[in-house]
Amino acid sequence: MFTPQAAPIRMPVIFFGHGSPTLALETNTVTQTWRDMALSLPRPKAILCVSAHWLTRGTAVTAMASPKTIHDFGPIAPDLFKIQYPAPGAPDLARRVQALLAPLPVALDMSQWGLDHGTWSVLIKAFPDADVPVVQLSMDAAKPPEWRYALGQRLAPLRDEGVLIVGSGNTVHNLSAMRWDDRYGEAYDWATRFSDHIRDAVVNDTPAKLIAYADQGRDAQLAQPSPDHYWPLLYVAGARLPGDRVKTPIDHIEYRSVGMTSFMIGGG
Ligand code: ZN
Repeated sequence: MFTPQAAPIRMPVIFFGHGSPTLALETNTVTQTWRDMALSLPRPKAILCVSAHWLTRGTAVTAMASPKTIHDFGPIAPDLFKIQYPAPGAPDLARRVQALLAPLPVALDMSQWGLDHGTWSVLIKAFPDADVPVVQLSMDAAKPPEWRYALGQRLAPLRDEGVLIVGSGNTVHNLSAMRWDDRYGEAYDWATRFSDHIRDAVVNDTPAKLIAYADQGRDAQLAQPSPDHYWPLLYVAGARLPGDRVKTPIDHIEYRSVGMTSFMIGGG
């Protein structure tokens, strides 16, 4: 039974730039940094993940005891389809999220979803033993940025209950401009400008700039042509609490238009 008792240490909140799902098959500086981030934390009681890949009408949380591993991508690498991330669910945490967000209706999903690759392609590196329970929170596709930020604020109490809140997306995510043949080349100028703007807004704790990201005009349109990969950052920013310090352990762009920037907010 999940009881909302205060944990001795406040958990940070993390945004992972998840990049290509093929990272799940690699060991490199990015995946090692994800692992190092996880190792720097107290062991979470559970993880609540907002993934760019679960968009819904309304809001839902996974509430099954054993969420399935969802392979929600095209035929990019056969070995990716063999990956399982058998972390348990946490139905009690799902109900706690439901209570925290009330009166917003939050559906308890018992069978539809599970863990999509926005969640498992990162957690399989950060928490490779898959022994920390994981719950996913969906993103209502119809809501504006300020609503997402406000929802994150309402989740912040979980940080004092041993829950690690994670957002998984990308600061820059333009797949049509991606250059698969130039992973570590120089990013597009608009990608660099937008990513730097967002990084600075997080570091300087100016959430109004995060909410108003579209004010960056053409840079924003190119960096986030469909902003689903940006949105998880708004939930993470909302869960920030006074006194949190920010670390940016990864801050680069791959394939010219996929931002890998990751943030750890709070946590000493
Ligand atoms: Zn993605």
